[in-house]
Amino acid sequence: MIHQIEQQMRRNVLVVDDEIINRQMLGYILDTEYHVLYAENGAEALELLRARADQISVVLLDILMPVMSGFEFLEAVKADEALRRVPVIVMTSERDAELKSLKLGAVDFIKKPYDMPEIILARVQRIIELAEDQSIIQAAENDELTGLYNKEFFFKYAERMQQLSPEQPMDALVMDIEHFHLINERRGRGFGDQILKVLAERLHSFSMESGGLSCRYGGDVFYLLCPHRPDYGSLVDAIQRAIQAMPDSIRVRLRVGVYENADKQLEIERQFDSAKVACDSIRNDHTRTVAYYDQELHETEVFHENLINDMQRAMDERQIQVYFQPKYDIRTNCIAGAEALVRWIHPTMGFISPGAFIPLFERNGFLTLLDPYVWEKCCQEIVRCREKGLPLVPISINVSRMLFDVKDLVDQIISLTDRYGIDPSLLHIELTESASAENPLQVAQTLKKLHDNGFIIELDDFGAGYSTLTSLRTLTLDIMKLDMSIIRHASRTKDFSILRYAILLAECMKLKTVAEGVETSQELEALRVLGCDYVQGYYYSKPLPRDEFETYLKEHGSNALLGGTLPLLQQ
Ligand code: C2E
Ligand code: CA
Ligand code: CA
Repeated sequence: MIHQIEQQMRRNVLVVDDEIINRQMLGYILDTEYHVLYAENGAEALELLRARADQISVVLLDILMPVMSGFEFLEAVKADEALRRVPVIVMTSERDAELKSLKLGAVDFIKKPYDMPEIILARVQRIIELAEDQSIIQAAENDELTGLYNKEFFFKYAERMQQLSPEQPMDALVMDIEHFHLINERRGRGFGDQILKVLAERLHSFSMESGGLSCRYGGDVFYLLCPHRPDYGSLVDAIQRAIQAMPDSIRVRLRVGVYENADKQLEIERQFDSAKVACDSIRNDHTRTVAYYDQELHETEVFHENLINDMQRAMDERQIQVYFQPKYDIRTNCIAGAEALVRWIHPTMGFISPGAFIPLFERNGFLTLLDPYVWEKCCQEIVRCREKGLPLVPISINVSRMLFDVKDLVDQIISLTDRYGIDPSLLHIELTESASAENPLQVAQTLKKLHDNGFIIELDDFGAGYSTLTSLRTLTLDIMKLDMSIIRHASRTKDFSILRYAILLAECMKLKTVAEGVETSQELEALRVLGCDYVQGYYYSKPLPRDEFETYLKEHGSNALLGGTLPLLQQ
């Protein structure tokens, strides 16, 4: 109780009356629980309110006053967005004034004369509580940056909307901006925020016009529920144009997933999950902006769900296996290393390629368990080779950028090599592209620490990703691994210029180069002429299961030992 009173005492109440006796009486009543401020007319009150709008909890207003009347004051408050949220109680003895006051936004009345202090106190308290509850609800309903609904309220209202009009076919849409994290990274968060606001404004007007509902789900992801329509091209155009019209703007690419005529029997969140699946299906596909959820996507989704359900068992039952693909030194033609590539041999679905499950596990976080498992297998393999007297070559492990969010990544890898007594230079880190947004600074710092501890760092898939040039500038690297598409393109078109420039670029950056996906002797020759350092591909060997890899090492690895030059080791 004491605490409650103390709380209330901190609230400011503004009493506006031209008659001193009225001000004194009200002050006397309210003073016990509130801090009372006074004004003698509407103009004075308005000035006070403008200066302290967010500190004044309620205004008690007389109507008949000189300079500026109560009505004029109410009109001015109604017109001002910042003042409108402050509740006004009108004090009057004339019934006629009530309707007009209500229309002007007054919330309650107190009758003159003030002969019931308890009632006045109770009314003031109730109005303050109501106003405060209302502002809490509004804050919780809306996303702070864009003013759209937040996801919790959106789902609640969307559900209600569907219940109210069960016959109306509705579409669920998920929308996001391609590479939004790069826009933030390059142009700053403030600029990114502006883009989100412009997008939200357009989306809001569209949902108002179409009788729909929209929200910011989080980050750059927006949801829209609206009555079915055959095409969303014009909505996308309108948003993209609005963003492009911003001062100093850039071209952005929206990605929209539509689950049309959504099945209302499904939970509302599930309906949007399907739209999200459609939206994700065109990630990095620059030919499409809008994708519809269909049977094929549904089957993929079911397949993914099965993989997710089975993943833990797969690890426990050793269905997940690590294969090794040799890498060669192009000058000496000796084995110079191997890349560890994971495979899933599923009891009913058979061989599943990592391309099918790695991106999935990246998104659901399972990769933080799977990758360390693969690394451990690699350490065990190095120990086995050592114990068997086989040539010892460094093994590259693929580390997704997403893994760099794991706080103790460096300690985890170091403790692994320590535990197995392995020199860090025997473990190469292949930094792979990641679909999820990453923290570039964290990636850079972690890589540097790994490098300082003796690990060799390779940048995977150079030329395929979108941020690799930035990566070259900001990351501590030893080796650039040319993406397979570069060599494929050169082979197909007989145009080797991109390949040449990529190798030249690596040379300028003092990086060694590895070409992957080498399949023919012509490709190998071209790479040799262009000065590439290492090669990997079917021309030499497919990725091999452990035992076959060991046999391969025994048969082909003697050069490596005899030559004693394992250049990747000498970094
Ligand atoms: P990547 O790291 O670019 O791996 C090279 C891919 O090319 C492998 O596919 C490999 O089998 C294939 N390949 C090798 N030589 C040739 C060739 O001469 N021709 C052709 N056409 N293909 C060749 P794979 O094993 O299916 O792996 C796909 C991707 O999955 C990998 O791409 C890598 O990004 C990811 N991945 C594989 N294993 C792991 C892992 O343990 N952890 C993580 N995080 N990612 C992995
Ligand atoms: Ca790789
Ligand atoms: Ca690669």
